[in-house]
Amino acid sequence: MNILNYINGELIGGQEDEWLDNFNPATGEKYGRIPDSSKEDVELAWKAAHDAFPAWSALKQEERSRYLLRIAELIEVHQEKLALAESADNGKPLSLARRMDIPRASDNFRFYGTAALHMHSETYDMGEQGFNYVLNRPIGVAGLISPWNLPLYLFTWKVAPALAVGNTVVAKPSEVTPATAFILSQICIEAGLPPGVFNIVHGTGPKAGQAIVAHPKIPVISFTGGTSTGAAIAKIAAPMFKKLSLELGGKNPNIIFEDCDYDQMLKTTLASSFTNQGQICLCGSRILVQRGLYEKFLKDFTEGTRAMKVGDPLEADTRVGAIVSRAQYEKVLHYILLAKEEGGKIETGGKPVYEVNERCKNGWFLEPTIVTGLDEHCRVNQEEIFGPVVSIIPFDTEEDALRMANATQYGLSATLWTSNLKRAHRMAAKIESGIIWVNCWLVRDLRTPFGGMKNSGVGREGGFEALKFFTETRNICIQL
Ligand code: NAD
Repeated sequence: MNILNYINGELIGGQEDEWLDNFNPATGEKYGRIPDSSKEDVELAWKAAHDAFPAWSALKQEERSRYLLRIAELIEVHQEKLALAESADNGKPLSLARRMDIPRASDNFRFYGTAALHMHSETYDMGEQGFNYVLNRPIGVAGLISPWNLPLYLFTWKVAPALAVGNTVVAKPSEVTPATAFILSQICIEAGLPPGVFNIVHGTGPKAGQAIVAHPKIPVISFTGGTSTGAAIAKIAAPMFKKLSLELGGKNPNIIFEDCDYDQMLKTTLASSFTNQGQICLCGSRILVQRGLYEKFLKDFTEGTRAMKVGDPLEADTRVGAIVSRAQYEKVLHYILLAKEEGGKIETGGKPVYEVNERCKNGWFLEPTIVTGLDEHCRVNQEEIFGPVVSIIPFDTEEDALRMANATQYGLSATLWTSNLKRAHRMAAKIESGIIWVNCWLVRDLRTPFGGMKNSGVGREGGFEALKFFTETRNICIQL
């Protein structure tokens, strides 16, 4: 399958006619290729977006919203095709793509298509003096770059708000998982989206991605991906004074107190550790357990982990699919080796899985892995692994838990398990994370702001925050 760029309403190859192969992680086989797009392709996409901006930004909000709602409907019409593509591209269980990724992608278009209808700006009555009001206007051409772990979900989480408030877009999905973005471009054509409003350029980060970031006439960049990539992007964008949103890596603590609802905690912790092969940026990778519960938790959690089926993503009972790429698979194996070198014990897992089935005999499968015996300062407990590997560390007091939770450069998310209401509030206010779940995980109202603290990011997505991010404000003060 040839995946093509979507530029000015058309599906076209790259200007240099260079191509990159794409692989199905469950089979290890090549399934298609994408254009290895260059600066010239980004320039074409920018030109299309630039030319489309005056008409798109001048549309009545209701008309723009109608396009977004039409795209949401068509994602639902094509949901099975999208789920199959997402699973084949990423290695995640098909059941998860059906349940989470694809419904969330249509939700994103529906949420922002309707939210933009209700956006309001500030006005202040200054009495005799006059009044002051704020206009929010679209910025122009927005550059959007997304990662491979939740390919369509995170891609649409940027595209929908940028378009909703009247920007036009040049976007790059991850080169590792381009298939659903390609189907989305076909959906946009079917929805009758005016040419040039939304453009997709496929290709690598250093080539196509960097050309977007460095483009002098793309004034706003929204990026989700690794922390070191975010730093490289900021280095280019900051001196150009671009508006920048960076959603980056994490090393999320999952803090479990003795007084928690044990059954609920255990079930959710299995999910928050290994869903999507541990490759959700919000997965808990450091499990901090109060000492009195440690032995029981370790036994039950290990049993629960062993019972998870690592299998063909197409099989309904598979809980853990394939790792997204050979490079990521090797990175995770490297960290398992490092855990042993650092003196850790592998309680379960730690090895590749070769015996999945005939179809998947060359796929990149790993056992879900539990490490113990490492303190919070070890590299395994400091660096983002982004795979099915968790480390369990005991703690004694609330103060210990807090210190360990905050002991990394990251601050993306945290989970807290306790029945003590006061403690929940006390801890939640002190944990350095953009989002803190109390007695739950991955539950969220899309209207709230989302984003990381510390080296997990700057800027906020979600709700009206994202709509405002994609506008520039004019502060107008009138003296009477
Ligand atoms: P990555 O940083 O390697 O790549 C992300 C995107 O950036 C890809 O599209 C890539 O092609 C592009 N890119 C790479 N180098 C670039 C450059 N120099 N200039 C411009 N673009 C460039 O990340 P990944 O491996 O695809 O994704 C995994 C990472 O994403 C993890 O660190 C994970 O925590 C993070 N993540 C964060 C969130 C969040 O909301 N904070 C959500 C999902 C994933």
